Amino acid sequence: MKQEAIVIGAGMVGISIAWHLQQKNFQVTVLDRKAPGEETSYGNAGLIQREAIYPHPFPREIKEMLRVLPNTSLDIRFRPKALMHYAKPLWQYFQFSAKQPYDKIVEEWATLIEHATKEHEVMFTASDAEYLVRQKGWLQLHRDQKSLDAIIAKSTKLTAHGVEFKILTPKEIALLEPDLDVSHFVGGIHWLNAWQVTSPGDLTKAYAENFKKLGGIIKETTVTNLHELSDGSWDITTTKEQLKTQNLIIATGPWSHEILKLLGYNFPLFPMRGYHTHYQAAEGKMLNHSIVDEDNGYVLSPQKLGIRLTTGAEFTFIDAPIKDEQLQADIKVARELFPLESPVEKTPWFGHRPCLPDMKPIIDKAPKHQNLWLAFGHAHQGFTLGPATGRLMSEMISGETPYIDPAPFKATRF
Ligand SMILES: Cc1cc2nc3c(=O)[nH]c(=O)nc-3n(C[C@H](O)[C@H](O)[C@H](O)COP(=O)(O)OP(=O)(O)OC[C@H]3O[C@@H](n4cnc5c(N)ncnc54)[C@H](O)[C@@H]3O)c2cc1C
Repeated sequence: MKQEAIVIGAGMVGISIAWHLQQKNFQVTVLDRKAPGEETSYGNAGLIQREAIYPHPFPREIKEMLRVLPNTSLDIRFRPKALMHYAKPLWQYFQFSAKQPYDKIVEEWATLIEHATKEHEVMFTASDAEYLVRQKGWLQLHRDQKSLDAIIAKSTKLTAHGVEFKILTPKEIALLEPDLDVSHFVGGIHWLNAWQVTSPGDLTKAYAENFKKLGGIIKETTVTNLHELSDGSWDITTTKEQLKTQNLIIATGPWSHEILKLLGYNFPLFPMRGYHTHYQAAEGKMLNHSIVDEDNGYVLSPQKLGIRLTTGAEFTFIDAPIKDEQLQADIKVARELFPLESPVEKTPWFGHRPCLPDMKPIIDKAPKHQNLWLAFGHAHQGFTLGPATGRLMSEMISGETPYIDPAPFKATRF
C-alpha cells in the first residue's frame, strides 16, 4: 500500500519535498492558503546561489554596528520594537556569528548548498522548465576595495567547495554589461556556476505542475489546527475540510513558528523582511545578468515583469505595515547605475526570509511527535535550497540513507 503524506506550504521548500516524496511512490497532498509559489518563493531575487558557502552573519565589528545604528543604511534597517521582541534569537544570532561557531556553521551549511544547482537541475529538467533558468552566473559588484579584497581572500575555500568564479575589473564588467555605469565600482566577481531565474514564482509553479503530473494533489486552504492521533497519524483542520495523514510535513517558511506553536514548539525563528518592485528599463537598455550592489545590499535582476529591485534586510514584525524608505533609497542609488524608468507595480511587494540564529535550516523529524517532519528556516537561500532540502527530507521520511549527513540540521539543537 502507498504511504501517504501531507505537506503544509507550497513554497519552493514544500513543493520540492512533495515532488521528491511523490517520486518515491508516496501519495502526497500539499496544502497552502495560496497557489504554489505565491509568497516568499515568489518575491525573492531569483538567484540559485551555488556560491553562497558563507551564510550571512550578524554584524559583530563595532564599526559595522555603528554604521547600521542610525537606521539609514541601504542594506540593513530595523524597527526598534521588533528588535526588542526578537532580542533572544538575535542575541543567539550574534553569538553564532563569532569566528569559532561561524567557521563550523560554514562547513555544515556547505554540505547542503553544494548540491543546490544539481538538485534544481533534476527538477527543472523533469518539469520542462529549463527556459526559466539562466545558467550564466551573476555579478557581485563592489564599490569598496576592502570588501572586494575580503571576498578574494576567501577564494581558496570557495574553490575547495566547487565554486567557480572570475574576478572582474571595471572594464571587464562593462564588457558584460554595456548599459551599466561601472564608474561606481572598483571591481567585482562573476559567480560562474551560480544561476538566475527569470521568475521564481513560475519556477515553483512549474515544479508544482510536474508534481501534479506525477499524481500529487494540491489544495488551496488554510490550516488552522493540527492534532496527533493515538496511532501516530495526524488530523488536520483546514478552513475547508478535515484531513488525515500518516506523515505530516511543515514547510511554512516564515510562518512556521506560528503553526508549530499549536503543537507546543517554540523555535527561535525570526522574519527578515525584504521588498521588491519591478521597473521598465529605458528603451534599448538591458541587463544581461543579475547584479548585486554588494556594499549597498540590493539586487537588480532582469525578470519576466521588468528589472526587479530587491532590498536587503529589515528587522520587523511579519505583519508590520509597509515602510518603503529603504526601497526608495535603493532605487535612487540604482538609478545612478542603470536607467530604471517607471515602476510596474503601484505598491511594493514584501516578504520575509525565515531565519534561525545559527543561519542553518531545520530539516528533521519533530522532537516531540511521531510522523511529524520539519523543513523551514532557510533564510536568505531558501529558493536555492528547496530541491536539495526536498531530496534530503524525502530520504529521511522514506527511511533511505540520506545523501548528506542531516545532523547539522537537527531540530533539537536550540
Ligand atoms: C527580498 C528577498 C530576496 C530573496 N532572494 C533570494 C535569492 O535570490 N535566492 C534564494 O535562494 N533565496 C532568496 N530569498 C529567500 C527565499 O525567498 C526564502 O528562503 C524561500 O522562498 C523560503 O521558501 P519556503 O518554501 O520555506 O517559504 P514560502 O515560499 O514562504 O512558502 C511557505 C508557504 O506556507 C504557506 N502557509 C503558511 N502558513 C500556512 C497555513 N496556516 N495554512 C496554509 N498555508 C500556509 C504560505 O502561504 C506560503 O506559500 C529572498 C527572500 C527575500 C524576502
